[in-house]
Amino acid sequence: MRRPLRPIDDGLIYHVINRGNNRQQVFCTEGDYLAFRRALGDLKQRKPFELHGYCLMSTRIHLVIRPLACTISRVVQSLLVSHTQRYHRFHGSGGHVWQGRFKSPVVQDDKHLLTLLCYVEVNPLRAKLKEFQRAMPHDETYSRRDVLRAAGITGASALAGAVGVNTKGTCAGAAEGSKPPVESEEQNAAKSHGVTIREEARQTPVVAECDLCVIGGSATGVFAAVAAARLGARVALVESMGYFGGVATLSLVNIWHSIFDTSGQRQIIAGLTMEVVERLKRRNAVNTHEPDRSRHFVLNSAELAIELDELVQEAGVRPFLHTRFVQPVLADDRVVAAVIEDKSGRRAVRARCFIDASGDGDLVARAGLPTRRDSQIQPPTTCAILCGLEVVSKQNKGFNLARAVFNPELPGALTNGFLWHAEVPGIPGASMVAGTRVHGADCSDADQLTRAEIEGRRQVRAICDIVRGHFAGGAAIGLAALPARIGIRESRHAECLHTLTETEILTGKRFPDAIANGTYRVDIHYPDRPGLVFRYLDGAEEYVCPGKPTRKGRWREPAAEDPTFYQVPYASLIPRGSRNVLVAGRLLDADRGAFGAARVMVNCNQMGQAAGTAAAISLKQGIDVGEVRPEELRETLADQGAIVI
Ligand SMILES: Cc1cc2nc3c(=O)[nH]c(=O)nc-3n(C[C@H](O)[C@H](O)[C@H](O)COP(=O)(O)OP(=O)(O)OC[C@H]3O[C@@H](n4cnc5c(N)ncnc54)[C@H](O)[C@@H]3O)c2cc1C
Repeated sequence: MRRPLRPIDDGLIYHVINRGNNRQQVFCTEGDYLAFRRALGDLKQRKPFELHGYCLMSTRIHLVIRPLACTISRVVQSLLVSHTQRYHRFHGSGGHVWQGRFKSPVVQDDKHLLTLLCYVEVNPLRAKLKEFQRAMPHDETYSRRDVLRAAGITGASALAGAVGVNTKGTCAGAAEGSKPPVESEEQNAAKSHGVTIREEARQTPVVAECDLCVIGGSATGVFAAVAAARLGARVALVESMGYFGGVATLSLVNIWHSIFDTSGQRQIIAGLTMEVVERLKRRNAVNTHEPDRSRHFVLNSAELAIELDELVQEAGVRPFLHTRFVQPVLADDRVVAAVIEDKSGRRAVRARCFIDASGDGDLVARAGLPTRRDSQIQPPTTCAILCGLEVVSKQNKGFNLARAVFNPELPGALTNGFLWHAEVPGIPGASMVAGTRVHGADCSDADQLTRAEIEGRRQVRAICDIVRGHFAGGAAIGLAALPARIGIRESRHAECLHTLTETEILTGKRFPDAIANGTYRVDIHYPDRPGLVFRYLDGAEEYVCPGKPTRKGRWREPAAEDPTFYQVPYASLIPRGSRNVLVAGRLLDADRGAFGAARVMVNCNQMGQAAGTAAAISLKQGIDVGEVRPEELRETLADQGAIVI
C-alpha cells in the first residue's frame, strides 16, 4: 500500500523519532554524535528549520523540529542519509543503519510542546548518566546551544520564552529527581552564543576535611564560622579577597546601626557584634553616636579587618584568603565538597555542612538550590575615602556635599542618586563618602560587575572634580582610598522555607524561631529614580532626595502602640530542598521591603552567628539543617551571648 505523503511546509512542529535497525547502535563513538550535530547545523543552511529541542541516544534520536521551507520528510531524510553515509565510511560497515520510516507526530499546542521538550531533555538522564554525558557533551565545534542558535533560537531564555518555561530550567512535567541546570552556566552559555570549550576531567586534591565550610568571609561569614568553631566544629572559611569583612571592609561601608529597640531603652542585639565593637573600642577604632540610631557605631574598616583576622584565628577556624569558591560537589541531595581556586590551583574542601555567606549566593545557585532575583535590584555603590572636605566646608558657608554632587546646574553632576558620608575613626580629616550609584547592575553577573566597578570609579572622580572645580578650597580634596570591591546591596536571594515580608517587619511580627532582632527602617534605593524611601515601625514614611526637602507622610495611620523592633526567623535561612546548606546575610529570603530593612550589618551579623550555631547543632546531632529545633537553637544562641527574645 502506498504510504500517505507527509504534509508539506505547514508551520507545524514535529516530534521526529527514529531508531537503529534492529535496535542497533546508531552512535558508537563520540565522533558519531559530533558529526550528527554538525550535519544538523550544515543542513540548516540548505533546508531551513527551527530546532526546538533534541536528544541523541546511542540507539535512537528525538528531534523537536519545525521545517521552514520544505517538508519534514526532506529535512529528516537528508539528515538520516548523511549520517548513514558517514557511519559506513567510518565504521567500514554496510546495510541499513536506521529502521524503516521515521515517526513524526505533530505537536498539538504549547502545553504539548512544553511536556515534550521536558520529556526529550530528560530522556538520556532516565537511561543513565553516562549516556547523558555523551548525549549532551560540550565541545568546541558544536554544542547543543550552537545548533539551537543556528536554528534561529538563541539560548535557553529564548527557548524558554517560546514555550513559557522559566529560565531557571525548572519546568512542569520534568522527571522527578532531575536537577535544574546550574544558573550561572545557563547565563554563560547564553552569552557565549553557544561556543564552548571542553575542559579535561581532573582529579582535584582535597585540601581540608572539616565539619563546616563557610563560603564568604564578611562579618556574616566570620561570625558563622566562629560560632560553629566555638561549639566544637572543625571549620573552613573561604573568602575571595585578601581580608575579611565584606562590604564593611572591602567596600569601606563603616556604619553599624542601633543595638537598641526604638524606645532606646531595651538592648536587642549583642553576641559577636558587641564582642567586636568592644574589641574595636580598645583600639580607638570605633565612634559611638548613641542615640543617633542611623549611625550608632562608626568603625575604622581597616582595624575591623585585622580584628576579624584575630577572631578567626582565636577560634581555630581554618582561613582561606584570596580563595574563590567555584563549584559544589553533590551526592545524595547534599553538598559534600566545595571546589575552590587559589594561587595553588584548583582544590577542594570536604565538609558535612555548608553556609553560603557569599552575598551573591554562589554556592546555593551552583548547587541547584532555588534562588531568585528581584525585578528591581537595589543599585551598587562605589564608596571612597576623601580628605579635605572640612577645608571646603569652612570656606563655603552652608556647603552640602550631596546638594553639590547632584546639582544639575554644575557640569558633570551625578543624577538619580543619594549621598551620605561619615568620619573615619582615628584619621582626622578623612571622610567615607557613599555617593555613587550604578543603576541596572546585577553584580552576580561577571560582566555587569566589571562594568559597575569602572562606572562606580568614574563617578567617584566626578564627585572629586565637582568639588575641586566649583568650590573655594576644592583643591584640598584628595582621593585617599578606593574600595577593593564595589558595594553590592543586592543580587540573588535564596528561596527558603519562609519569605520574610515587609508587613512582618513593619508590624514587628514575633517568630518562634526568631534568630535576629532589628530596628533599621525599610530603606529602598530604587534603581530608576533619585533618593530613597524610608518606612518606619511607627507608621512614618519619608522620601529623601538630595537638593529637595524631605517629603514626609505615613504608610499607615497612627496606632495606640507601635512595635519597637522586628525579627528574622531561622526559616528564612534554610533554602528549600536543602539538607546541609544554610544561607546568611543579604542572601536571606525576604521580599523587597523586608530586604530593605533586614540587609543591614547588625542584622546580617546575627544571621551569621545563628547559621553557624544551627550548623553546629545539626552536625552534633547528625540531622538536617531543617530539623534543628528552634528552641534548642535559640537556647544555644543565648548561651553564646546573643540576645534572644
Ligand atoms: C554602599 C552600601 C552602603 C551600605 N550602608 C550600610 C550601612 O551604613 N550600614 C549597614 O549596616 N549596612 C549597610 N549596607 C548594607 C550591608 O553592608 C550589606 O547588606 C551587608 O554587608 C551584606 O553582608 P553579606 O555578608 O551578606 O555580604 P557581603 O558583605 O557582600 O559579603 C560577601 C562576602 O563573600 C565573599 N564572596 C563572594 N563570592 C565569593 C566566592 N565565590 N568565593 C569566596 N568568597 C566569596 C565576598 O568577597 C565578601 O567578602 C550598605 C550596603 C552598600 C552596598
